[in-house]
Amino acid sequence: MVPKKFVFMRFKDKIALITGGTRGIGAALGMRFLREGAQIVVTYAEDKDQAQKFQDEVAGAKGQVHQADASDFDQMKALFDQILTQFGRLDILVNNAGIRRDNLVMFMSDSEWHDVLRVNLQATFICSKLALKPMIAQRWGRVINLVSPSSILGREGQANYAAAKGGVASFTKSLAREVGKIGITVNAVSPGVIDTDMTRSLPAKTLTELKQSIPLGHFGQPDDVCGMVLFLASEEASYITGQIICVDGGLT
Ligand code: NAD
Repeated sequence: MVPKKFVFMRFKDKIALITGGTRGIGAALGMRFLREGAQIVVTYAEDKDQAQKFQDEVAGAKGQVHQADASDFDQMKALFDQILTQFGRLDILVNNAGIRRDNLVMFMSDSEWHDVLRVNLQATFICSKLALKPMIAQRWGRVINLVSPSSILGREGQANYAAAKGGVASFTKSLAREVGKIGITVNAVSPGVIDTDMTRSLPAKTLTELKQSIPLGHFGQPDDVCGMVLFLASEEASYITGQIICVDGGLT
């Protein structure tokens, strides 16, 4: 956890939406945005118990938790409408929802391919598109996307995930060019191997190999990713856009 001396109130009066935010990196982000004064709205896909725990233990009065599939336009449109009705604005969007369905290409099913592209890439398009309307009206906004070292280095068994995250990286750069003059920045953060449910399910041999290839010699914690995401969401980062920033212990 971050020492108190590093806690500021950079997001007082800001509304932040974090997709896939009830566990792992998204939950750590939610906590950090809350601590710095933001009103947060987080979404999740399926795990109702985890969502309830997040609502009870973390979200409190300044946080809302909604079940909404980030890759479903109608569900996300309904949520954005609700946010705009209630708060009248949306300042920060973190496209964090993501899944892995690893397999070698020769064995990969159509659903393993499509599901991973849908949740990682298409959801980023849908949520970003919906966020632009209020952000353009405000002439201020921050979109931050989560990508991966797999999209930079490639990784056997992750062609679908690498392709999706590579797509998100290219999407980030293109959208940054489209909306920069309106006061909206669009950046991506590429975490290395972070200790979450997503990585705990990797084979032990893969985890050992990965650890050996990290110059800092250990996996990251969700909190390690937060500093960069919050910085990119803040006023301090107002002259940074279209960037893919690695927070990966030197992995890439
Ligand atoms: P995680 O599996 O712990 O959490 C993912 C979250 O996404 C969960 O809350 C889940 O409910 C949600 N989610 C999944 N599908 C969804 C959908 N269709 N709609 C809404 N929410 C959905 O993962 P994490 O490790 O915290 O990863 C967060 C992000 O960071 C992901 O985009 C992931 O690809 C990326 N990332 C993670 C690592 C890592 O090492 N953990 C490394 C690089 C990138």
